Amino acid sequence: MRELLNRREEMYTKALELFGLISQLDIATEEMAELIKELSKFKRKEKNLNKIAEEVADVEIMMEQIKQYFDFDKEYMDKVKNKKLNKLLGHIEKAGGSID
Ligand SMILES: [Mg+2]
Repeated sequence: MRELLNRREEMYTKALELFGLISQLDIATEEMAELIKELSKFKRKEKNLNKIAEEVADVEIMMEQIKQYFDFDKEYMDKVKNKKLNKLLGHIEKAGGSID
């Protein structure tokens, strides 16, 4: 199991070679839709935490493929993510909260 986690980049490159970018983008949108569906079921009180975990994993794998394809390196993504987290912090503070 650990070995496959360590070979993700190689697998993503091979998947893109074999299936093509458009196919992988289609799969990414399908996986996001599957996660949306499971989250909707959860809101309707369904006990589906295992399915949610599976769909989160599927979406994370597809997001990793997209980041690799577009060559978004970790430093760049951390910068973008930090900007978004700063925006979230603004919303939290605006609502009267803090993270201290
Ligand atoms: Mg899925």
